[in-house]
Amino acid sequence: MANTRIYLDWNATAPLMSEARQAVVEAMDLAGNPSSVHSEGRATRALVEAARRRVAALVGAKAENVVFTSSATEAANQVLTPDLRMGKSVLAAGDLYVSAIEHAAVRMGGRFASARVHEIPVTASGVVDLSALEVLLAARPADSGLAMVTVMLVNNETGVVQPVREAAAIVHARGGLMVCDAVQAVGRLPVDIAALDADFLLLSAHKIGGPKGAAALVSRGEILMPSALIRGGGQEKGHRGGTENVAAVSGFGAAAAVAAGDIAERNATIGALRDRLETGMREAAPDVVIHGAAEQRVSNTCFFTLPGLSSETGQIAFDLEGLALSAGSACSSGKVGRSHVLSAMGYDPKAGGLRISLGVSTTPEEIDRTVAIFARVAARRKLAVQAA
Ligand code: PLP
Repeated sequence: MANTRIYLDWNATAPLMSEARQAVVEAMDLAGNPSSVHSEGRATRALVEAARRRVAALVGAKAENVVFTSSATEAANQVLTPDLRMGKSVLAAGDLYVSAIEHAAVRMGGRFASARVHEIPVTASGVVDLSALEVLLAARPADSGLAMVTVMLVNNETGVVQPVREAAAIVHARGGLMVCDAVQAVGRLPVDIAALDADFLLLSAHKIGGPKGAAALVSRGEILMPSALIRGGGQEKGHRGGTENVAAVSGFGAAAAVAAGDIAERNATIGALRDRLETGMREAAPDVVIHGAAEQRVSNTCFFTLPGLSSETGQIAFDLEGLALSAGSACSSGKVGRSHVLSAMGYDPKAGGLRISLGVSTTPEEIDRTVAIFARVAARRKLAVQAA
């Protein structure tokens, strides 16, 4: 077993769970188009609607308020728009406020002009600064249209839980709209759209053990919706044209059903492993900085900096040792990017953040091997620093 690789990059994507695989395979064997009225079509439609109910249940929403998309990135581009509909009337959002630690899918501002996208700063421990949000919204001229604000529930790099409900209270007091990226939160925290007081949530199947290629935009109600990003045959009640990716959607539903259950039990197991990992890391390299450790974090994430080790060198060094971890952000080109989250927290991103993220199949033996690998990489880095 000692030579097998260790996968600790669950925040990038979680391995497909068996329940989801089975749902995908079963759905692929159905011939009908879910929009067809014949019995083959209706059988396929039944799968899509069952998945919709399961995804809705994961976040306490109504099934009719789930719009399936291809990715959370697409869902973000759909909802982050100045062009909203309130029933049949058009409603304009004037400005978008995004927290400085949002995922690029959100930080790019969707369909807002870049001049209308504003950043909400975060504290040194990576928590959205609510008083800065208050100041930003208070400074808006009365005639500048609706404000849309997005704050993620769990940061994908640090794992730090964000004060979404408190942010929503500030936003709603000013008549604005609250969007929350809950991609890294579901399955790790109980998530309820009403309790969060969010107007919209973003979800993604592949972060919870579902297949890549399915995600959702979930709304609190049915009346207020963004204009469609993809227009076509009226699927998803006109909110997202194109035949549904039935197999991926069905796998998403299966993964959502698993993610909704046993959260406390999973957290106890995974959290104990993460504690064991961080204790071992601190013993091996007392100068390691674990970001956000003093804040409320999800149980599976450890984002750290080892002085003298860049993200680029670190990622390669760990990969060669058989450990798949991640730099704060990975560009689609496969290059290691500098972490905008570390910059937003006031750190020099050149210092190099690395993220270890655990999942349901992570074992104590893998954690012990990870600590041993970490100790070797940290020792080599010391030699390099001393030689320099
Ligand atoms: N939001 C967060 C917090 C993420 O971690 C990710 C994935 O990395 C996304 C959005 C984008 O999700 P998708 O891969 O479904 O576009």
